[in-house]
Amino acid sequence: MVNSQAPEISAATELLREGWGVHGRLSRLPGENMNFRVEGVEKPLVFKITTDPMGRVDLEEVVFARLREAGMPVPTAIGDREGGVIRKVDFMGDSVSARLQEFLPGDAWRDVSSDAALLRSIGSSMGRLHQALEGLSQDQPGVVRTHQWDLAEAGQHREPIGKIEDAKLRRTVERCFHLYAAIARPRLPLCPHGVIHGDGNDENLLVEQSRVVGILDVGDTQWGALIQDLAITLAYALQHEGVDLETASELVAGYESVRTLSEDERASLFPLAMARLATSAVIGAVRRSAQSEHATWFSHEQTTVDALVRLAEVTPRSAEHALFRVPSGDASDQVALRRDREQVLGPSLSLSYQRPLHIVKGSGQYLHADDGLPYLDLVNNVCHVGHCHPKVVAAISQQAATLNTNTRYLHEHVVDYGRRLTATMPEPLDTCFLVNSGSEANELALRIARAATGAHDVLVVDGAYHGNTGNCVAMSPYKFDGPGGSGCPEWVHVTPIPDAYRGEIRGDGDDVGPAYALELARVIGEACGAGRSIAGFFAETILSCGGQVPLPRGYLSAAFEHVRKAGGVCIADEVQVGFGRVGDAFWGFQLHDVVPDIVVMGKPIGNGHPMGAVVTTRAIAEAFNNGMEFFSTFGGNPVSSACGLAVLDVIEEEALQERARRLGNHFLAGLRGLQERHQLIGDVRGSGLFLGIELVRDRATLEPAADEASFIVNAMRDRGVLLSTDGPLHNIIKIKPPLVLDQEDIDMAIRLLNDVLDGVD
Ligand code: PMP
Repeated sequence: MVNSQAPEISAATELLREGWGVHGRLSRLPGENMNFRVEGVEKPLVFKITTDPMGRVDLEEVVFARLREAGMPVPTAIGDREGGVIRKVDFMGDSVSARLQEFLPGDAWRDVSSDAALLRSIGSSMGRLHQALEGLSQDQPGVVRTHQWDLAEAGQHREPIGKIEDAKLRRTVERCFHLYAAIARPRLPLCPHGVIHGDGNDENLLVEQSRVVGILDVGDTQWGALIQDLAITLAYALQHEGVDLETASELVAGYESVRTLSEDERASLFPLAMARLATSAVIGAVRRSAQSEHATWFSHEQTTVDALVRLAEVTPRSAEHALFRVPSGDASDQVALRRDREQVLGPSLSLSYQRPLHIVKGSGQYLHADDGLPYLDLVNNVCHVGHCHPKVVAAISQQAATLNTNTRYLHEHVVDYGRRLTATMPEPLDTCFLVNSGSEANELALRIARAATGAHDVLVVDGAYHGNTGNCVAMSPYKFDGPGGSGCPEWVHVTPIPDAYRGEIRGDGDDVGPAYALELARVIGEACGAGRSIAGFFAETILSCGGQVPLPRGYLSAAFEHVRKAGGVCIADEVQVGFGRVGDAFWGFQLHDVVPDIVVMGKPIGNGHPMGAVVTTRAIAEAFNNGMEFFSTFGGNPVSSACGLAVLDVIEEEALQERARRLGNHFLAGLRGLQERHQLIGDVRGSGLFLGIELVRDRATLEPAADEASFIVNAMRDRGVLLSTDGPLHNIIKIKPPLVLDQEDIDMAIRLLNDVLDGVD
């Protein structure tokens, strides 16, 4: 580039003479574009040479013409010998568009101090610019486009964040894009759109006496959300000495003197401005890693970094207050809320995280706290199709506004729902019972198993949790062997966790599953030897509280055989993993080529609406029909059934099972990459979007790293990502997000985990 400067200048000089008959002295202007200042002529001029394969220069001239008509200060075009404004010619082997403009006097905004009056003038100029461009449509050739500075596509810069060497800056940039993805991006389509300038930076605005006197360079003009323009000017204003968010409110006020912003625009402004700063930081870091000297980047490097660092901790809520001069109001008092909660709620209930969260809104894969900060929810497998999915919300609210009764009346919804739910199951699972929770479903499954077999006892897997009712706690080693537990009741028999990583039998061999099933047969034998009889075997199809443990190949089929031989029925507890989460199948048991006798469902079934279900065979349901009626007041009511139907619809319409498969594999690959870099990660495992990371201090002894797991989960919370720990040794990090998250979220989580692990190793 540097070497070719001289030939460029002589070629440009020649082109100018030939095309316009102008004999001038050319010098290259700073910036990424090939712009030359022309002197030695009557009035100073700017000669612009643009490689323009898409014909965008024509669009630029349309925009300039509009602004000129509206009386805005834009450069005047000077016609060539034929009277045209754009000359399409060959220039040093490239076909280019050449234009000649008058040189606009004025200081670049970057070179003057940004006082209130100037900021106001910049804001109102942007507003007037949008007004002037009103009426230009998306049909304008070349206007529907994107480029690397397009704020509608800022997510493209997340992937190379790792190129930023400074860990603190990296964390800040990561946060900016997270705010952008969670707050601004979903709102952008709802914001007013039009033709925008696209690059109102402080070199493209000329000012004099605190007023805008020139608008240059519409090379990044495009169809977009109008708020993008204001956000870009805000991002530059914030780089100027003495401009904080309160001062920058002048910019907003200036803009709003022309056009009032919508609520979506207001909420998006700060995250968009931060995304612009972050974009600059990443593009700079990428350029720096590719070529160590790049003039344009260095021109703003320090101010960009300073602004990012200065604004790193600002919450969206306080930013909105400052920018829109909203009185702070009552910040919610977490301490008081916590105290009141402790007073009124039973004490045997804990809060997540060292610094508990006050969540006020959910949307898709994100939870939003009272300070406006978004959190990527990687733990909530209840809100399976995304928090507050509009289709589910609509189904609930419409039915709630029409009728909510119980299943003692005829109603289509409950019948439709029963049909749809059982249709997801293999034969002969064709009959359902609808209840309100996973616990209630397991309680019912226990009663059905006892009625169908005439036996009383159950078999459960060590470490399992099946619910909070009396019988469910009695069937949950996770509870009865834990703090406050009173041990295993005599009607419950515990078989070892088939954990191929840490259990008695390890490895990936084909014999591991059947060997663990033999352990189960041994437990059955001992129980029967002691005169007990087995009504049923309750098993999750990936063990959750047991530590996100996938069942080894061949385990479940062999175990089911042993159980059935002993006269018991086989109950799959799909409360955690069902409804497509495991990716390769809709139900976890389908990963193992078995058909249970009873399937228990909960959590994701209603996307947060309290529902549970038991599906079994007609024969078993008949056996349960012994004269005693089964009725659950709320189970299967019209609202719940409408909700359940909507959830099934969304899973299908949005192809969420396939999404879980694809994104689960991507997540696993990322986690395996981390495992290679960090000794602390002993194992990563799971299926679809039901994954676990097992942390160990020593890969040989498998000493559990419980404190580290807790530290990491809290550090990730502080970085905007929600995870949890579990497992009998509390050293497993669980991952089970709403299925609607996207690859960018996963990549962010992996990068952040990598940074946090760097601090732990
Ligand atoms: N079974 C399993 C496997 C569970 O994880 C849970 C809840 N964590 C339950 C049953 C109980 O469900 P609920 O809390 O809806 O009663």
